[in-house]
Amino acid sequence: MAKTTVERIQFRCYNTTMDKNEFDVIVIGAGPAGIIAAGMSARTGRRTALLEKNDQIGRKLRLAGGGRCNISTLVPQSQFLQAFGREGQFLRQAISALGPEELKKFLAEINVDIYEQGPQLFIAGGGKKLVEALIAFLNRHHVEIRLNQKVTAMIPLENGRFSVETSTDHFVARQKVILAAGGKTYPLTGSAGDGFVLAQSLGHQINPPVPAMGAVHLKESVFDGLAGISLQDVLVEVFFDNKRQGTFRGGFLITHHGVSGPAILNASLIIARGLEKHHKVSIRLHLFPDQNIDNDTMGILESLPQRLRAMILKQAGVDLSQKTIQITRSQRHALLSMLKGWNFEVKNTASWDQAMVTVGGVSLKQVDPKTMQSRLHPGLYFAGEVLDLAGACGGYNLQAAFSTGYLAGIS
Ligand SMILES: Cc1cc2nc3c(=O)[nH]c(=O)nc-3n(C[C@H](O)[C@H](O)[C@H](O)COP(=O)(O)OP(=O)(O)OC[C@H]3O[C@@H](n4cnc5c(N)ncnc54)[C@H](O)[C@@H]3O)c2cc1C
Repeated sequence: MAKTTVERIQFRCYNTTMDKNEFDVIVIGAGPAGIIAAGMSARTGRRTALLEKNDQIGRKLRLAGGGRCNISTLVPQSQFLQAFGREGQFLRQAISALGPEELKKFLAEINVDIYEQGPQLFIAGGGKKLVEALIAFLNRHHVEIRLNQKVTAMIPLENGRFSVETSTDHFVARQKVILAAGGKTYPLTGSAGDGFVLAQSLGHQINPPVPAMGAVHLKESVFDGLAGISLQDVLVEVFFDNKRQGTFRGGFLITHHGVSGPAILNASLIIARGLEKHHKVSIRLHLFPDQNIDNDTMGILESLPQRLRAMILKQAGVDLSQKTIQITRSQRHALLSMLKGWNFEVKNTASWDQAMVTVGGVSLKQVDPKTMQSRLHPGLYFAGEVLDLAGACGGYNLQAAFSTGYLAGIS
């Protein structure tokens, strides 16, 4: 029987909706990894959609570096990979495809000004400027940005296609889906662990996510009341059940709730993992990593901020009016035990709201490092912090997000 006009119109509308939501490539999550993946995919001529659950893209990127946006670190590749610990080797192909120098060129191409401080690369004008330029880049390559689209399911269909469901819509990816939904820290920025749930629903192993790159809270309370004191160069050793796991060097900061600063932030990457599995996690703090404390203990102490020095002397039972000559053997012993490596037991790391990076995520064993493609589902790709990769502070994580996103986009 011939269709009525109304039926024909309805049929046409339905088809139009299907076409509107059918793409060659669908990228889930508009952080740095998803943005570059979508732009690169569109640049190779594929019709590409970028689905973002927020009403704007790159929300976390806008906050990066406290607004300064430390986007990369110009160090040799081997050093770069080391900053990701054991997982670093996984990044070799991604960094070879888009390393710090190539990222610099890309930023110049999209008219973003940068500046360098030592090996570190920053964005002039911060993350907001970068996001503006990335939006122009996406528009230039005709990426369809769909905001307020929270992806709730990815379902493999026949012929390598994927159905991508959001809370309000339905999309189809004809060639590939790139999951770039980020980790779990700063959940208000949108990355709230959805990526792990989506990957797990397709059989991917998720290594337990833990919050890292934040202050470390100690069981001892000796630093209470000293918030704000910072030191330029300390050494921090990390121990799991009294076995040394790693050494970190750099700045140190006492906060209202614990200790922080670059040395501690970097140490927190392994501390977070240790707390999951070990009974006792501790740190040994060396306030003077290069000095021989034995020779001139009181003289060396003079170089510490006054409030910290007073606390150390008090801990050792030394009266502030006491002369060096009057220091007793037991007081000297107590002083040296603090200054030659001060032991603290770790209570916990910063919460999800305060930590900056997620340790854990999609197991790298099930992802091909040459392409970022899933080893379980052809056509499914991963990029950025959703992967079980976490680098040191100083631009490593953003570079890794751009590199893995780039590789997933061009593969
Ligand atoms: C305060 C702060 C400062 C930082 N500063 C720096 C720095 O200076 N240098 C550095 O290297 N690193 C820094 N980092 C870390 C860095 O920002 C992250 O590693 C990086 O943003 C990860 O990029 P990504 O694209 O993988 O994920 P994200 O940037 O987290 O983006 C993921 C996107 O996916 C979206 N999404 C999540 N779930 C869904 C869903 N279900 N459907 C649709 N969309 C979804 C999210 O809304 C988000 O927009 C900082 C982190 C924080 C929190």
